[in-house]
Amino acid sequence: MSKIPYRVYLSEDEIPRQWYNLRLDMKEQHDPYINPATMKPAKLEDLYPVFCEELAKQEMDTTTRYIDIPDEILEFYKLYRPSPLCRAYNLEKALGTPAKIYYKFEGNNTSGSHKLNSAVAQAYYAKKQGITSLTTETGAGQWGTALSEACAYFDIPLTVYMVKVSSEQKPYRKAIIQTFGANVIPSPSSTTHAGRSILEKNPNTGGSLGCAISEAIEHAVTHENCRYVLGSVLDQVLLHQSIIGLESKIAMEKIGEYPDIIIGCAGGGSNLGGLIAPFMQDKLTGKANPHFIAVEPISCPSLTRGKYVYDFCDTGKVTPLAKMYTLGCDFIPSANHAGGLRYHGMSPIISKLYHDGYLDEAVAVEQTKVFEAAALFAKYETILPAPESSHAIRVAIDEALKCKETGESKTILFGLTGTGYFDMQAYIQYNNNTMSDYIPTDKDLEPGFNALPKIPGVQE
Ligand SMILES: *Cc1c(COP(=O)(O)O)cnc(C)c1O
Repeated sequence: MSKIPYRVYLSEDEIPRQWYNLRLDMKEQHDPYINPATMKPAKLEDLYPVFCEELAKQEMDTTTRYIDIPDEILEFYKLYRPSPLCRAYNLEKALGTPAKIYYKFEGNNTSGSHKLNSAVAQAYYAKKQGITSLTTETGAGQWGTALSEACAYFDIPLTVYMVKVSSEQKPYRKAIIQTFGANVIPSPSSTTHAGRSILEKNPNTGGSLGCAISEAIEHAVTHENCRYVLGSVLDQVLLHQSIIGLESKIAMEKIGEYPDIIIGCAGGGSNLGGLIAPFMQDKLTGKANPHFIAVEPISCPSLTRGKYVYDFCDTGKVTPLAKMYTLGCDFIPSANHAGGLRYHGMSPIISKLYHDGYLDEAVAVEQTKVFEAAALFAKYETILPAPESSHAIRVAIDEALKCKETGESKTILFGLTGTGYFDMQAYIQYNNNTMSDYIPTDKDLEPGFNALPKIPGVQE
């Protein structure tokens, strides 16, 4: 057989026409969302004030295994998909490993990350329903960028609450979002109750993702015909991101490969959930048994040190409660953390799969080791990776080095979720040797756990 190319590209016609709903093959469903107003399991209608109807339906759908991707979304996907499956020959050589390393590269679009896959779907369904404006939060900025791009395409006004430190550290991200026509408000802001009450308690706060979510949701429910959209965590987002795994699987089949190990970084769990989806289906149905690894920052260790309980998805405690691995919605990673993935919780689907042992392993890594891997990867693969993605690179390298010791030629697949061009402040710290690691103590984690919500009869 001829050599497998560096980049395996599918054709436009090979883009999957349906998303895969992993819940259909899960042995058990995750516990239902709980409506914070009633403290009872949330019904479909409970979600309508916040989410678009079609997206709320997808959120609750446990009966449709494959969901058609509307033509309008497929046409947009064709602007930047299929994304390439890459063989890391140069990195393999540099490591001297017998392992074969593949990565699915999602950074080949203006937003620079996989987030566009769900942004375009969410903007489309909003438009179709006649929603006249959208609002969201953004932390590192990738979601705000992706959504602003999608909203510009479908001509929907967008307000983005951007975590204040991030809007200060990443003026160029903000500029892209504004170029696509969205309104950027640094969070906490004085435009919402949630923002004002946080500012009262802590006027100098740099903000947090949870706080920005609260502001965006408040904006949605207080503005006529406006809806909130979220870029990770939710089942609907994992559904849209299944396109990553579906394409990866087709591309690997084409070259006669199947991964032994699949690795993804985990913030809210959407790229990981999307990448592993069709391979997890194989595992759940007994067709194959790949080893799945989730990678998170050691400074925000929701899977490795969090509790599997009901928690709010946001600091303002207005979202439905989800059963998930969480550090408590009040948790904020230490100030020196620069590597992204700073969300306190984890997707309910990913949490359930991990809890039940189908997602095999979760690993927490130090950011200096993450950036070391990023720099090595950039040198040999010529892509400057996002810090988030570099968590997966770190563990892919570690697994490849294990193969070097054992002499096994395993096939490794990891998700390269995006590029790091707007994370240069973090790269500067790494290059200057001013980056440090902080491992939270048990005492650091205590306040977050102590503030976990109580739900009568469910969680006392
Ligand atoms: C947002 C983001 C992540 C983390 O989000 P998930 O929902 O866990 O996938 C990872 N990589 C990049 C580049 C991102 O923008």
